[in-house]
Amino acid sequence: MTDTLRIAVLPGDGIGPEVVPVAVDIATRALADQGVSLDQTTLPYGASAIAADGVPVPASTLEALEDFDLWAVGPHDSASYPAEVRYPAPGAVLRKQFGLYANLRPARAVRGVDATAPDIDVLVVRENSEGLYADRNMTVGSGEFMPTPDVAMAVGLVTRTASERIAVEAFEAARRRRGHVTVVHKANVLRLTTGLFRDVCLDVATRYPDVRVDDQHVDAMAALLVRRPADFDVLVTENLFGDILSDLAAELSGSLGLASSINTSATQAMAQAVHGAAPDIAGTGVANPVAMIGSMAMLLRWHARRSGDGRVDAAADAIDGAVAHVLAEGVATADLGGSASTSEFGAAVVEQIG
Ligand code: ATP
Ligand code: MG
Repeated sequence: MTDTLRIAVLPGDGIGPEVVPVAVDIATRALADQGVSLDQTTLPYGASAIAADGVPVPASTLEALEDFDLWAVGPHDSASYPAEVRYPAPGAVLRKQFGLYANLRPARAVRGVDATAPDIDVLVVRENSEGLYADRNMTVGSGEFMPTPDVAMAVGLVTRTASERIAVEAFEAARRRRGHVTVVHKANVLRLTTGLFRDVCLDVATRYPDVRVDDQHVDAMAALLVRRPADFDVLVTENLFGDILSDLAAELSGSLGLASSINTSATQAMAQAVHGAAPDIAGTGVANPVAMIGSMAMLLRWHARRSGDGRVDAAADAIDGAVAHVLAEGVATADLGGSASTSEFGAAVVEQIG
């Protein structure tokens, strides 16, 4: 077990440089309390990297990332990049380069924040490498094409390998939660693609007799998540469905500004909030840092599971506890109806950690 963890910090665009450093500082504080120091290095990424290196994800950044235990990554705002060149989406470059196939997106209502669904507590386990998402598609390149200027088509990819590894991720997560997985698909219409996804997930379920499994069509799932959110624990689904359902779950739990996530492979993980660069509020100091702070806590838990270092797990608990306490006290940023700035909220969390 190491007493020093190294984290690569990629602040990114828009509100990234406002929320990412706040989250990293909070993690630094929580880890220090456990006797672990967090050594941070900022790497070029996004619009600032285009200005300096000509591309949003410089080769030097990709190379350097391999040396870090943890990665904290901000959002990117491709719309702000020079229009002459079409750059690949920076987040997609990282996911492809490092095979980050699992996107874990929890949504839970917290005290102090108005929630449409006060009893929601779900984890969306989203397959991150296949499906219909062209720029995320690792095997066939761009999945979209236009055979004529008036016809656009898209290829959806589902493989047994990718479906199996994401299913394992979901069932393992369910064992750490309330022991229930719902497989979300649309196998009545997309019989071959989402049908294969469902079948592989139900196959994997047989290896987890202690976990309850059921399945839903994605349209029914959306309705049920609104009607009876408390009935669900872990939702495992393909890329596009997971993107949509996780935004729905986040809003039901209060706000997109609360939605945390990590992207992982078997060996790497990056903390990345669900929200985007929010250019409409960037630079004004009012962004909600909770999503990024929670993403850091998820990242620490991921690391603690792999390393067996209980101190890192304790630091994650301290971060989540402090955020919950601060929100319950009524400290909130503008998106939640409060008046705290990003840095004031961060300072309140640091103070709570002690
Ligand atoms: P992307 O395509 O990158 O996901 P998006 O179109 O989904 O971007 P966001 O950048 O996530 O858009 O912003 C959506 C709305 O939510 C905007 O009005 C933005 O200001 C708001 N928002 C997003 N994140 C936050 C945050 N952390 N704090 C406060 N408001 C936020
Ligand atoms: Mg979005």
